[in-house]
Formats: sequence, C-alpha cells, structure tokens
Amino acid sequence: MKFIETRGNDGKNPAAITFSQAILSPMSSFGGIYSPETLPVLDDAFIKAHVGSGYKTLAKDILQAFEVDIEPSVIDAALSLYDKFDDPNNPVPVEKIYEDLYVSELYHGPTRAFKDMALQPFGKVLSAVAQARGEKYLILAATSGDTGPAALETFKNRENIQVACLYPDGGTSDVQRLQMVTEDADNLKVIGIHGDFDDAQSALKSLLVSDVFADALKAHDISLSAANSVNFGRIIFQIIYHIHSYLELVRKEVIQLGEQVYLNVPSGNFGNALGGYYAWKMGLPVKQIHIASNNNNVLTQLITTGRYDIRDTTVIATTSPAMDILKSSNVERVLFDLYGAERTKELMHKLDREKHYELTSDELSRLQTIFAADFCTDEEGLSYIKQAFDQEGYLMCPHTATCFKAYDTCREDKSIKTIAYSTAEWTKFSPVIANALSDETFDYDVDALKMIAKKASITIPAQIAALFDKEIAQKTVIDKQDIEKEILSFLDA
Ligand SMILES: *Cc1c(COP(=O)(O)O)cnc(C)c1O
Repeated sequence: MKFIETRGNDGKNPAAITFSQAILSPMSSFGGIYSPETLPVLDDAFIKAHVGSGYKTLAKDILQAFEVDIEPSVIDAALSLYDKFDDPNNPVPVEKIYEDLYVSELYHGPTRAFKDMALQPFGKVLSAVAQARGEKYLILAATSGDTGPAALETFKNRENIQVACLYPDGGTSDVQRLQMVTEDADNLKVIGIHGDFDDAQSALKSLLVSDVFADALKAHDISLSAANSVNFGRIIFQIIYHIHSYLELVRKEVIQLGEQVYLNVPSGNFGNALGGYYAWKMGLPVKQIHIASNNNNVLTQLITTGRYDIRDTTVIATTSPAMDILKSSNVERVLFDLYGAERTKELMHKLDREKHYELTSDELSRLQTIFAADFCTDEEGLSYIKQAFDQEGYLMCPHTATCFKAYDTCREDKSIKTIAYSTAEWTKFSPVIANALSDETFDYDVDALKMIAKKASITIPAQIAALFDKEIAQKTVIDKQDIEKEILSFLDA
C-alpha cells in the first residue's frame, strides 16, 4: 500500500511512498502529510471471522490488510508489547455504563493514558526500521503531559533512537512529571522549560528550522524524526481498537454483527477520531462519530457550521489539557479523503495564512453524514464525573467526561448503542477528580489520589504509587533559549 500527499506534489518530494518511509518522514509537499492512497476493505466476513480473535490477532490481520512493508517478526515483537497491559488477553476492556453507553478503556498500558495504544508498538517498529537502514534518529517531543511519558517509555533503551522530551515545568500533573523525570536510560533526555506548553512547542519548532542544529545533527550522523500524532505509524494502531471495541460489544451480546453503533471520541489533535473514521471507511458498521471537545471548541464549530476560525482565539487552559488545542492536525486527512488534495491545499493554506476557512454547504453536508460534535465546559465535566461516580461507581478522567456531554446531545437515534473512549486513568488527573467528588481543591496529586482511593474503596495502582518513591533521574530545568545547547551536549555525551 502506498501513501500519498494531502496537499499534492511539489515535484521535489516523492509523490508516493511506502509505510516505512511515511513513518520516518511524515511531512510532505506544501506543508502536507502522507495519507493512505486507498484503504483496505474489511468486509462482513473479516469482521465475523474475528469475533473469536484476541487483540493481537486482529491487529496483525489489519496491518496485513494495509500491506505494510515491515518484517513479520518485527510486527510480532511490536504487538507483543500489549502483553505489558493490565490484561494481556484483552488490553482494551469495554465497560458498561448505561444500557446503551459503553466505555472502551484505552488506558491500561504502562503510562496510564491512551498514547500507549499506538506508541508502544510504534516505538518498536520505528527502532527496527532505523536499525535495518543503519540510520540513527533523534526524536523530539514537546508534551503537555501524556505524550512525553508514553514516548519515553516506548523508546527507552531502543537501538538507533535517542529522545529529547520538553515539558513545561509546573504545567503538568505531579504524576505526569514524575513519569518523565524518573525515567533513567542513556538514550533519553527530559528537559523542563520555564514556561508553558506553547513555549515548549515553539522552542521545538524553532529547533526544527535551525541551521546550527541541523549541521550539528549531521556531524553526529543523526536524522530527525517525529513521534507526534500526524505520524501514520501511530494512526494505524489507532484503527485497531475501534474494531476491537465493536467486536467486544458483539461478544457481550449487546449488539449483533452488522448492527450500527455510535463512536464517541474525546478529541484534540484528532488522531483517535481519525482512527474511527478510517475504521468506518474500511467497513465497520458505524452510524456516526461524535466528536467531544472542551472549551477549545474549534472542532465543534467546524462540524456544526463548516467554519474553522481561530482568528482572535487563544488556547484556553481547561481541566482536560490534552485537548487544549486550536490547530487539530489530523483533520487534514479527513479533508483530503473527502475533498481531495487540491481543495485540502487551498483550505489548509488559508488556515495557515489567514487563520480561518469555510466549507461549502455541500462539503459540510458530506462531513455531517459521518460526524456530529459538541463541547463540554469544565463545570459540566465535573458534574459528569460526579454523576458517573455517584450513580455507577465509575471513576473517569476529565477528557472522558467530555464524551458524556456529546452522548447527551449528539444522538439522533436513541436505539443505537454508543461506544465512548476513555483516554486516561483517573490517577493521571486526580486533583480534578477529587475536586469533582468533594468540592475541595487539592494542590498535590498524592493527597487527591489518597482521597479518591478512600472514597472509592480501592487502592492506588502500584505503578502510580511507586512513582513518589522513585529517584529523580532527570533534573534539567532551563530557560528556553538554552534548549539547543542542552540537547547538543546530550548528543555529545
Ligand atoms: C492525547 C489525548 C487526547 C486527545 O487525543 P487526539 O487523538 O489528539 O484527539 C485525549 N485525552 C487524553 C487523555 C490524551 O492524552
């Protein structure tokens, strides 16, 4: 299977590349990204044949349908990383909340957020591809809290890969920070920045265009790669769990094979939702995909009005920080799939230059056949968290809570079951959850974790509790103008 460019070809970049090339260099002509040229078809027989399959078998058969140019032994090794999840036989359990609402829990991996679903196998695949080509790569990551821990965890001690991870000091939860600064491996460098996530991200972007930095990397014989969510190597692993979740409902006899469902996805950069869109295009019986946002509601605006407008808009800090995003990168692949490369280039250039674009009414109606959307304020989120706990004894993170709003407002056909996605364990955002359950405010994660554990009569999961006693291995916290120097001295070490 080939990958082609979302904004067409400039005569310099290759117009079509393989999967392994697409994961090493995801950026294409005119600022675009690579997308699959065609999607494999998973017909009724494929879905039926996998009712009895475990997660890894399903994953393997989907990767095979994409004809990825990766050695079968590498794929097996990558998928075996799901054995590290809480239940190796089922890394993604699907829990009943109400009669017609099921939550697919994507957070049972090593760092307790859904980034592990894709980054765990992706880390193994990327390292194997780099090794096979005899090339070394530096992965740069800027994180608001979940991508950093997941990237460090997957790349630690991997051959031919080094990672430099930037985080805003004081801008993540204690648990998220500890997950990063306690990582101790020679190929990892974690750097706290005096500033917020935007400072970390813009520092990373200026490194990517710095000639000094490029020359220094060349001198070290190192290439740059990115593990961010536009990388198709992550997206491919995010198609699988949508199909698995559907099959789980079939196995539980909640739905019959062929019955349509709603998918309900808490969205920021739109990687998770794009995985659901591709699953639908490939043949999964999905009636509609409901896109849940927080107060940064650009996606709600796009899907309900056809306008993407970030003029006079700044990012609002919310209790669901992984969704505090204005430029949602993976929307581009939906535009490309629906309207083609020429129109995608036109729309994306307009967004880059003028910070807004508008779909035609025909384009909007095509978007609305598969997507509906709503956003959830922090206050509403707190009340959904409290309600799910009080009524069902269910603990959920603030990102997952946004789905409950979309569940309330987006369903047109009440006879259709909903699969909502839970993207983080309650332990990663415990001060918010403790606040929802008690109305008190908590400054430290430890206090919030203890309060919730007591109230819910559960113990704090071992890997989270252990973080507070681990040695701090990564102590660097610097001003952003010193980042380049710091990374270069890490490469020299
Ligand atoms: C990354 C993240 C999201 C957003 O996912 P996208 O695929 O970027 O839309 C939602 N919730 C949590 C907890 C996350 O870490």
